[in-house]
Amino acid sequence: MNYKNSFSVKAFFDYLREKRLMGVKCLNCKNLMIPPRLICTACKKANLEWFEFEGAGALETFTILHVAPTSLKDKAPYILGIVKLNEGPLITGRIIGVTSDKPKRIRIGMSVKADFIQESDSTILAFKPNN
Ligand SMILES: [Zn+2]
Repeated sequence: MNYKNSFSVKAFFDYLREKRLMGVKCLNCKNLMIPPRLICTACKKANLEWFEFEGAGALETFTILHVAPTSLKDKAPYILGIVKLNEGPLITGRIIGVTSDKPKRIRIGMSVKADFIQESDSTILAFKPNN
């Protein structure tokens, strides 16, 4: 079976490997969801199709993690952010390419775009300043 036929978190990560930010669109009410769901969170129907997000948005909020899970121990401190995609949904990702100096100083509302980090055998969704 083609993994892309199933609206799963696994498929979401398989698409990340291809540098594509994929969610689903409800064909009933047009609600967009990312990561994909099997049932629309708005109208509860299961009439969905894949939807590719552009990957651009604005930083909604962020947190700096100094104590990381074991698998990310050598990455700490790192920044996790919630990004409001231009298409509407919120998604969590690592925030990269920011420093304590202007013009790349992290701030709420900053324009960001998706980046895809290869780490060991998985692809991590990250966002970096959009110019
Ligand atoms: Zn719906």
